[in-house]
Amino acid sequence: MKKLVAFIILFALLVPLFYGCSEVSEKLTVSVSIYPFYDAVKSIGGDYVDAILIVPVGSSPHTFTLTPQLVESLSKAKVIFVNGFGLESFISSLTNSLNTKVVSLSDGLKEIIANYGGNPHIWLNPDYFVKQCEVIKNTLIDLDPSHKEIYEKNFETYTNSILENARALKEKLSTLKNRNIITFHAAFPYFSEYFGLNVLKSIKRDPNNLPGPKDIAEVESLIKQYNIKAVFKEPQQSSEIYNAIVEDTGVKVLTLNPLGGSDETKTYIDLMKYNVNTIYEALNG
Ligand SMILES: [Zn+2]
Repeated sequence: MKKLVAFIILFALLVPLFYGCSEVSEKLTVSVSIYPFYDAVKSIGGDYVDAILIVPVGSSPHTFTLTPQLVESLSKAKVIFVNGFGLESFISSLTNSLNTKVVSLSDGLKEIIANYGGNPHIWLNPDYFVKQCEVIKNTLIDLDPSHKEIYEKNFETYTNSILENARALKEKLSTLKNRNIITFHAAFPYFSEYFGLNVLKSIKRDPNNLPGPKDIAEVESLIKQYNIKAVFKEPQQSSEIYNAIVEDTGVKVLTLNPLGGSDETKTYIDLMKYNVNTIYEALNG
């Protein structure tokens, strides 16, 4: 009798374990290069997709390098979603070490990117981000057709909510008289296109180079000419990159975030809100 009871208890303990395993293995594992696509995959894939983020929150895709552990964990992914157009400089070493299919989310936007001199930061315009999400949705359906309807429904909900929020934020900025911004890194032309802002200058194409004397002189003359009260850096940068300019002109240094993933930018919508509100506060003063 004791043996029977022990057997029943053991069986009761093991059954959920087996169920647990089969549920885990049914999930589709995909990988994404940057955080905005992580938010998209989580929102569209819901309970049926696991996502692996390659560039950690707080790091820059321009300078990120792969670790062997990351390559190992990526071998589980059925597909890797990237922005493309030179954003992910680590991608060639990744495709050399893995057979996983890489899907560029921006191929359908290449003419727009060409008009911006090949600048890759296209996800920051919500209209273009929705197009990238459509590629994610279609790829998930190709890989896992049994959940097609769920992916389609999640895509509609997610992108409608993004566009609704984007329109409201654009409306908020429409009351501003001064729409000129100066950024450190050239990440915001598409964002500015959508929200009706004017990027007077981006100091560097690559966020890791410091401004030279020529950059400093040019920025200071723009600050005076356009009555600029604040300039923008990125989260991983120290305000010290603007030291000379702040000393000469007294501008404030504020932070814009092109990627998100921090506590206040956990979703694409929160990321838009954060950037729009930061710019609004800077220009409304
Ligand atoms: Zn960038």
